[in-house]
Amino acid sequence: MNDCIFCKIVAGEIPCRKLYEDEDVLAFHDIHPVAPVHFMLIPKAHVASLAECDPSHRDVLGKLLLLAPKLAREQGLGDGFRTVINTGRGGGQEVFHLHVHVIGGGGPRPL
Ligand code: AMP
Ligand code: ZN
Repeated sequence: MNDCIFCKIVAGEIPCRKLYEDEDVLAFHDIHPVAPVHFMLIPKAHVASLAECDPSHRDVLGKLLLLAPKLAREQGLGDGFRTVINTGRGGGQEVFHLHVHVIGGGGPRPL
C-alpha cells in the first residue's frame, strides 16, 4: 500500500493534526474541513473501503464507531454530529483507505 496517503500518515511520513491514536486506530483533522469540526477516524491497517471489509474487521469497525461520539464530544460536538463513510467511486470516495468522517459545529445539518 506504498501509495496510500493515509498509510503514510499512519507511518508518520506525512504530517497530520492528530486527535487520537491507539494500536488499531488513528483520528486526525481533515485537511479540507467542510464544517468547523471535521475529523476522520481510520484503521491503522490498510483496508481500501467498507466494501473490502470482512469479518476480520469486525472489531476495528466497532472501535471506529464507538470512538466517533467520544472524540466528537471532546471536540465540542456534544449536541450531535454527522458521520459519513464514502464507499467506492460511486460513493464519492477519493482516498481508498477506509475512513469515517465526523463533521459538525456548522448548524443543524453541516456538510
Ligand atoms: P473521501 O472523499 O471520503 O475519500 O474523503 C477523503 C478526505 O480526505 C477529504 O475530505 C480530504 O480533504 C481528506 N484528506 C486528503 N488528504 C488529507 C491529508 N493529508 N490529511 C488530512 N485529510 C486529508
Ligand atoms: Zn492505506
